[in-house]
Amino acid sequence: MKKGIHPTYYEDVEVICICGNKFTVNAAVPGPIKVESCPACHPAYTWERTTTVVKGRMEKFLEKQKKIEELQKQQGKK
Ligand SMILES: [Zn+2]
Repeated sequence: MKKGIHPTYYEDVEVICICGNKFTVNAAVPGPIKVESCPACHPAYTWERTTTVVKGRMEKFLEKQKKIEELQKQQGKK
């Protein structure tokens, strides 16, 4: 690495997530860094752990689809 062109590099910078999870990263800021989502709570990473949320959304979607299908059926009977 050339000196003077790189920002100070901090190792093991503490990252604190609003979910309570703490982990360390290497970063160019001293930290601690506060984040709103982390690998422990972000749905993109925790597909399984947040299934309740995902299911809730999915169920709502399926319920809407059922209602639409029922309405279409009712309209078809007329
Ligand atoms: Zn988190």
